[in-house]
Amino acid sequence: MDQHDMQTEKTDEEETLDPHCATCNMPLRKAEDFGTDSEGEKSEKYCCHCMQGGNML
Ligand SMILES: [Zn+2]
Repeated sequence: MDQHDMQTEKTDEEETLDPHCATCNMPLRKAEDFGTDSEGEKSEKYCCHCMQGGNML
């Protein structure tokens, strides 16, 4: 017997919200779309047009 509980709908896949730039709202999809912080790390809040090297453009 198959005990498939349809009541508890559990999805392992997390909803991946498309990140957007906090300043210009540009969708951040590609690696080059992301800005960089002062340490050269990818900024997930800003795009490359708004944040480069931790500086707002
Ligand atoms: Zn931006």
